[in-house]
Amino acid sequence: MNWQKLEQELITLRHKLHQTPELSDKEAGTAAKIETFARQHSPDQIITQLGGHGIAVLYKGREAGPTLLIRCDMDALPIHETNDDLDYRSTNAGVSHKCGHDGHMAIAAGLLPMLASEKPTRGKVIILFQPAEETGEGARRVINDPQFESLIPDYAFALHNLPGYNLASVIVGENTFASASTGLIVKLNGRTAHAAEPEKAISPALAITQLIQSLPLLPTHSTGKDFALLTIIHAQLGERAFGTTPGYAELMITLRAHTNKQLKSLCSSAEKEIRKVADNHHLRTSMEWVEAFPATLNHPDCNREIIKAANTLNLTVENLKTPFRWSEDFGHFTHHFKGALFGFGSGLNQPELHNPAYNFPDEIILKGSRLFYQIIKQIDH
Ligand SMILES: [Zn+2]
Ligand SMILES: [Zn+2]
Repeated sequence: MNWQKLEQELITLRHKLHQTPELSDKEAGTAAKIETFARQHSPDQIITQLGGHGIAVLYKGREAGPTLLIRCDMDALPIHETNDDLDYRSTNAGVSHKCGHDGHMAIAAGLLPMLASEKPTRGKVIILFQPAEETGEGARRVINDPQFESLIPDYAFALHNLPGYNLASVIVGENTFASASTGLIVKLNGRTAHAAEPEKAISPALAITQLIQSLPLLPTHSTGKDFALLTIIHAQLGERAFGTTPGYAELMITLRAHTNKQLKSLCSSAEKEIRKVADNHHLRTSMEWVEAFPATLNHPDCNREIIKAANTLNLTVENLKTPFRWSEDFGHFTHHFKGALFGFGSGLNQPELHNPAYNFPDEIILKGSRLFYQIIKQIDH
């Protein structure tokens, strides 16, 4: 393998993906670029339109054996890129790869030429390019897609780059790696009236202010000292009309916890509190749960393989002391299959994920591909 040439090819691919980012569920152009790249590396099978714009690239061994799945994510974010000095900056206004999924795809793509030149001896290896990670929808849809029946993995692996950690350091954690979270949309319905006659209205103004104060205090009451967090992310009351007493309010909330059980308990306390406050103010309520991410639970067997591979390649391994507060929709995979998600350092001076100045570092692409390839070889041996 000509590593230098391959590295250059992967960097070029990442820059192309970076330049033309697409939001969750709009990844058609991204999928086309990945498919074109994959076809150049003689896979045994390519499955497209998986759970949306997802693509699975398969390499099969001659003997029976385990199915190993390596997953990366494809979507970008609704963030305006501020890295004006980049010659490959986003050309899609208001959209950019600020979570590094362009880099994750380049790392996964790097496995294709490696697997093409040395096919697995046993079982099969699936390189999965998964859509819609940011909304928590993609993984669930891929797993529920009838085409996924032929792809059920014995082991599933994924990485996420992590700013604030040394370049290409490997961050592992047993049990919960990333938290469970869910979004909640609360609609409070009363009745509008003229602004001159507020006594004739049923205004949700007091209820919404009360909830904004009481809901964030719930985690300490409902889950004790275990980590749980409730964040009010959006609120709307009435309309911009000086003549009207509002009759409608909407509140959007993100709830998160280290375990699925803690999250469930937090959700039910939140529901109770919302109903109580709404009843006190004679409001009708509706609640909609959206963007649910289960906790990502790492299997010890898979963690061991990651650490072994990192050691073989002389990459620094760091143990995570407490699970990350953020969520990853790879949690849907670890919920169903034996798997692990690990962190891959993207530099101490790297702006944080979702920051408009963030940019995935090219220097870790080939290292990431080789790390995954080492895991594949270990399981295939
Ligand atoms: Zn993200
Ligand atoms: Zn991400």
